[in-house]
Amino acid sequence: MPPKFYQKGLRFRCIGCGHCCIDPNGIVCCSDEEAQNMARFLNLTEHDFMEHYLEIHPTGQWQIRSFPDGRCIFLEGQGCSIYPVRPLQCRTYPFWPENLKSAYRWKQVGKECPGIGKGKKVTHQEIQHRVSLLKKHPRLQRNP
Ligand code: SF4
Repeated sequence: MPPKFYQKGLRFRCIGCGHCCIDPNGIVCCSDEEAQNMARFLNLTEHDFMEHYLEIHPTGQWQIRSFPDGRCIFLEGQGCSIYPVRPLQCRTYPFWPENLKSAYRWKQVGKECPGIGKGKKVTHQEIQHRVSLLKKHPRLQRNP
């Protein structure tokens, strides 16, 4: 197999701009365990949390609600109000398999995420680790 374009790592540092939390086409899925963690963090019962903050995607997957303009319901100002317990999908962005398909795709994602190309290098090993975690996660890909 030819080496990945990110064999030597990729620079990334989140600058907290919040752009990835306002994508009108974005879908943030969460597992049952993540929903339980978020409910606990907000001091809500699981039932109340699901009622207020989640909805079911047509595929049957739990997804976090958004405002009509596409902003994540947990976005406050530019920050995430559940940051310590945010879903894996948010934790691993922008290192999603579909974003790592090619150097071209990564460059395109860089137009939406100003953290790409900044900061220290995330190693190839760390990138692979994030990808492997995501592969086990219930997530819907926008551009597979
Ligand atoms: S778009 Fe990139 S830099 Fe901005 S908040 Fe999201 S991950 Fe961080």
